[in-house]
Amino acid sequence: MTRALTIAAMALVGIVAIGYSYTRCVQPNEPTWQDGHPGWAPSDMPLRFTLEPALDVYQGALELAARTINLRAGCELVTVGDGGILVAQGDANAGHAARTYVGGGVTRIEIGTPLEAGAQAIVLGHEIGHVLGLGHDAFSSSLMFHDVASVADAYPAPRLTDADAGALAGRYCK
Ligand SMILES: [Zn+2]
Repeated sequence: MTRALTIAAMALVGIVAIGYSYTRCVQPNEPTWQDGHPGWAPSDMPLRFTLEPALDVYQGALELAARTINLRAGCELVTVGDGGILVAQGDANAGHAARTYVGGGVTRIEIGTPLEAGAQAIVLGHEIGHVLGLGHDAFSSSLMFHDVASVADAYPAPRLTDADAGALAGRYCK
């Protein structure tokens, strides 16, 4: 083998190895369903979310989060309007960006510390993911990364993984 061919072959192996590792790290094959989530039926879709009046500043971010999730799932799972699931102000001193309660007769998202502009749609989308039944995953570029607000600067457009998007579509898009 010539020197040039050897170098080309090594480069090819390098690309394949990088491609494989990339795929393995950011595209988990398993969706991350939340243990104990009470579940929704396809006929419950779309879930309607509304901001309490004091949080009107997040209206655009909530609409963006809804559009993004619907686009990734391939059907309308989330809508924004009056009534439905409330997004409310929670304890601003609790040390978290937001928290979601599902089941037990009430479903609700509570915002903790005020959200920076660049993190609003991300955090709201993440919490809506929990309402739909998704749990956390360990991939920092994923919308369902456990601490998605803290990596918003590094990953300004985190997405649902293909596995999570496919799982939502399979469960709810009928
Ligand atoms: Zn979370």
